[in-house]
Amino acid sequence: MRKANIKNKLVTATINGYKITVPADTTILEAAKQAGFNIPTLCHHPDLKPRATCRVCLVEVKGQRRFQTACNTPVGEGNEIITNSQAIREARKTMLELILADHPQDCLQCSRNQNCELQSLANEYQIRENPFVRSAQNLPLEDSNPAIVRDMNKCIKCGRCVEVCQEVLQVAAINTAHRSGDFCISTAFAESLADSPCVYCGQCIAVCPVGALKEKDDTAKVWQALNNPELHVVVQTAPAVRVTLGEEFGQKPGNITTGKMIAALKRLGFDKVFDTNFTADLTVIEESRELLGRLKDKGDLPLLTSCSPGWINYIEKMYPELLPYVSTCKSPQQMFGALAKTYYAEKAEIPPEKMFVVSIMPCTAKKYECTRPEMRSSGYQDVDIVLTTRELAQMIKQTGVDFAALPEAEYDEPFRVSTGAAAIFGASGGVMEAALRTVYETVAGKTLEDLDFKMVRGLGGIKEATVDLAGKKLKVAVVNGLGNAKVLLEKIKAGECQYHFIEIMACPGGCVGGGGQPFGTTKAEKERRLEALYTLDENSTLRRSHENPAVTQVYEDFLKKILVSNVHELLHTYYTDRKY
Ligand code: SF4
Ligand code: SF4
Ligand code: SF4
Repeated sequence: MRKANIKNKLVTATINGYKITVPADTTILEAAKQAGFNIPTLCHHPDLKPRATCRVCLVEVKGQRRFQTACNTPVGEGNEIITNSQAIREARKTMLELILADHPQDCLQCSRNQNCELQSLANEYQIRENPFVRSAQNLPLEDSNPAIVRDMNKCIKCGRCVEVCQEVLQVAAINTAHRSGDFCISTAFAESLADSPCVYCGQCIAVCPVGALKEKDDTAKVWQALNNPELHVVVQTAPAVRVTLGEEFGQKPGNITTGKMIAALKRLGFDKVFDTNFTADLTVIEESRELLGRLKDKGDLPLLTSCSPGWINYIEKMYPELLPYVSTCKSPQQMFGALAKTYYAEKAEIPPEKMFVVSIMPCTAKKYECTRPEMRSSGYQDVDIVLTTRELAQMIKQTGVDFAALPEAEYDEPFRVSTGAAAIFGASGGVMEAALRTVYETVAGKTLEDLDFKMVRGLGGIKEATVDLAGKKLKVAVVNGLGNAKVLLEKIKAGECQYHFIEIMACPGGCVGGGGQPFGTTKAEKERRLEALYTLDENSTLRRSHENPAVTQVYEDFLKKILVSNVHELLHTYYTDRKY
């Protein structure tokens, strides 16, 4: 009750002489932004709880003895707040100088050069020399896994990564450790990430303001393959990349860049550019069959989706006893890799050992997924290399291609055609919505009039819906962010889960907010990207996965002609108890 009162209460104050009226729990940082004054900060991220560790957001509240941190101080009634004075600028500059004294000065070699929040502020505050004695450390790089590199020499101890890993995802692979001079961010007992509960989602990278965390850079391996005349190099692009890549070239979030992205990939030298949306449609067909089979045979329910490797890592490490509930379908990326080195290799008469498959993904966990030993159903590693959206942008920039001026190009056959159902795979709720379209029409035997399942759309952490399937009620839920998944997994464990089908994506918002997407992502960017995916769906001629004629052709020409067990091996997988 008291909380509700505080929420409804308004306070009036002034910021730099301008009167503002805001809800009582509004921080000075938020209120100042609304009033048109930006306050610098390094530890604060708009989607995370404030930690006030960097102390760069200092402001003056008249009558108070010390400067206050704007990110965690609420506006008080009658406050006279000053965000910009000589004393404040000097205090902020001192905080920045202290941080810089403990930071390597190798900006030119850093992956975040020109995209680093510390570098930008140092420039803004004209820090050209530093009065403080440098105390840089020489800690080893942590790169013992295929996805994430940690360079703790560059860590400014802002705590954003801990907040996202502990509070949002509730994975708790990393935490703060030690005190005062030894204070640092660490895994438990300083073990490697590979030996920790880390799921390689890359959400810590996405919020890190500096170059302390990054994906493993695989661009050199792709250049090498492209330069090898012996290899036939193909690339697939995930649903969510086409609505984010433009941001790397100064475009607005949610700009749809499919045609230009394909053109850029062709200019990079890929022999064929294919669409992962094709195998997203295939996933819908296979997963819908699996759901209907489990409903009919009273199999393990709820069926849990399996597209998100961050989520798969999580259930294998944290809830292995629930693995029988997970769909056996491979992710669209891995279904593509398996088909590329079998179906396409046969069709194009290219030996699979001469084929090199690259994926462009919004995801760091997919770098790990493609190395899993079970992802070799073609007899070779099905997907050779995964690049993030950011890595692709880097490669395009290196070619000197003017991205905005590129003509639109089209995907190559035989993986060109895809549906609107596949387009929305990049959104939380997209896999569910796509599956519901197919499951409904299969069971009801009639056309679904309204294809939009709006109840499962949006950034809500747990969404649910009940669908009438020819008289039977199908209860479904959609979850994004592993912290939310935990809530439902506990219910399944306790036998209290009423759902038949649950979509789970590791990253908040789904792949539009993946750990490999352009830096600076907040909820606002994710909203724009989601809108773009739904626009792609609306504008598609085909909006149901089972209507994709190219998928039907793969079944007719290839999958129906090989042994059922081989089809299963190509399109399905198994999971391993890796209890942490
Ligand atoms: S990759 Fe994900 S799970 Fe691993 S440390 Fe980062 S946020 Fe935590
Ligand atoms: S690793 Fe990055 S996000 Fe984490 S505390 Fe260090 S600087 Fe902040
Ligand atoms: S939600 Fe998407 S980006 Fe995140 S781990 Fe899963 S597949 Fe990767």
